[in-house]
Amino acid sequence: MTNTYPEVWELDNVFSGGSDSAELKTHLETTAEKLVEFEQASIQFAVPKQTDDAQRIAEFLEQTSDVSVDIRQAGAFIGCLMAQNTEDKKASLLQSEVGLMRSRFQSAFLKFKQSLMETDPNVWTELLKTENLKEFAFILDEWRQEAKRLLSEQEEGLITSLGIDGYHAWSELYDLLIASISVQVNLDGQEKTLSVGQANNLSAHSNEQVRKESYDKLEAVWQEKEELFAKTLNSLAGFRLQMYKKRGVDNVLEEPLQMNRMKQETLDVMWQAISEHKQPFADYLAHKAQMLGKDQLAWYDVEAPVVENAQQFDYEQGSEFIIRHFGKFGPELQGFARHALENGWVEAEDRAHKMPGGFCTSLPKSGESRIFMTYSGSMSNVATLAHELGHAFHTHALRPMHDLNRSYAMNVAETASTFAEMIVADAAVKNASNKEEKISLLEDKIQRSVAFFMNIHARFLFETRFYEERKNGVVPTSRLNELMEQAQEEAFAGSLSEGHPHFWASKLHFYITDVPFYNFPYTFGYLFSLSVYAKALEEGQGFEEQYMALLRDTAIMSTEELAMKHLGEDITEKGFWEKGIALCTKDVEEFIKLTAEEG
Ligand SMILES: [Zn+2]
Repeated sequence: MTNTYPEVWELDNVFSGGSDSAELKTHLETTAEKLVEFEQASIQFAVPKQTDDAQRIAEFLEQTSDVSVDIRQAGAFIGCLMAQNTEDKKASLLQSEVGLMRSRFQSAFLKFKQSLMETDPNVWTELLKTENLKEFAFILDEWRQEAKRLLSEQEEGLITSLGIDGYHAWSELYDLLIASISVQVNLDGQEKTLSVGQANNLSAHSNEQVRKESYDKLEAVWQEKEELFAKTLNSLAGFRLQMYKKRGVDNVLEEPLQMNRMKQETLDVMWQAISEHKQPFADYLAHKAQMLGKDQLAWYDVEAPVVENAQQFDYEQGSEFIIRHFGKFGPELQGFARHALENGWVEAEDRAHKMPGGFCTSLPKSGESRIFMTYSGSMSNVATLAHELGHAFHTHALRPMHDLNRSYAMNVAETASTFAEMIVADAAVKNASNKEEKISLLEDKIQRSVAFFMNIHARFLFETRFYEERKNGVVPTSRLNELMEQAQEEAFAGSLSEGHPHFWASKLHFYITDVPFYNFPYTFGYLFSLSVYAKALEEGQGFEEQYMALLRDTAIMSTEELAMKHLGEDITEKGFWEKGIALCTKDVEEFIKLTAEEG
């Protein structure tokens, strides 16, 4: 059999030789030299005082982009090495080396941003209109605003350096705590020792005993170690709040909203729309409980399958399925996916020592991306592959832009990926060869709505309330459990017989320090992409060009402007969000109809 789509990615054409690569070594040496020059240039960079300074700023921007591309190229490559083999010790050393470069780059770059802050507002307005700088008007202005919010360069420098062994170390400690845990679960008559990730995956097991046992075993560990996790979470949050306090920031959502280039009112109406439309999803959960022969679902039943669907796709079939259905949307997406799949951009092989999970990373210097995942043949693997290809396509759409105009936030990143995933998930439902298969695929889709409207909502409610209480001091373990149970009760609209009080200990996302509030951007991306998807269905193949224009603008405007310009929608209005939710409600109605006929 010919291997049209290699299952192991090609990294040697980036830097040959893995973590021993001489090419990479040379690249890092050159980057280190460029970094020293960049640091000097940032120290010497004088506050712009007149429009004639535009040329000088533009030159500095080129230098910024050049060194940043080199650092990101190395970082992405090393990230791939770490993911493909968790035992690659050399890669982990290289990662610290690049991490240090990145923080030096950021400090020097902050110096530059701070000098922009000092420019007179009238001169600033004129500067942004100059031939040299008008292309960068959005990001320059964003940087200037950001600098205004930050403390002095010395103070920010101190926070950054203390954060390595303080703030971020708590997050690393969490990873170590999780890695140190294993549980014994009885699977097919055998006692198996499982990691937290493996035990969590059993939440989708068809046997209730297995789901319950893995949940109970994990719960026992959370219970036993709750003080360790509570200390970690409280310390991390305390550091973040102190940092915000020094910067004069009271609202914990301020930073995450700025990172996602969206307004508080947009976030508020999104959750409001979701809160007001919980009923169909509560009905779905009640219906599912009935199908499983229960009064109400427990936490560990939510992801249980309702029908046996063992449909498998080998990697070749999965890839072809994606290429075929992407083609119905547009030729650019199809051609791009085929190119990526044929040319070793994807690492999909199911083998030992790979990191769990999936990601897409961009190699800015090569003009390529790499996708990492473990493919074992389920429809959900096919959807993940489509999801990651969606991320890669976003980067691809931005290629014609200047490198500095290619950074987009998580909420719109998840829009591009979910959009691609939706094309495939929808096609799968339509192509289902029998009723059982259709039910199972439809449920996969509804599960996503439950995740984004209920599970993620609970995380958001918990996290906001926890941070509010943390402002007044350490939040005790019992209170963390209580806050979590309340959040789940509310977010799942009272649909569960029992929640997961220690969810705050088990969920990695609360412990990520680089990205605060790692939750609402997912829900945003999901609903936003639904709206783009609805428009795509309306307009047919011709929509692809419009879609690519939207993706290109994700790096140079706020989400409110983006939606207005490309969709003609005001996302600060509840009505916008309700349209997306209505599409998800239809899936529920169809599911209930199909499964009701069953009995
Ligand atoms: Zn994603």
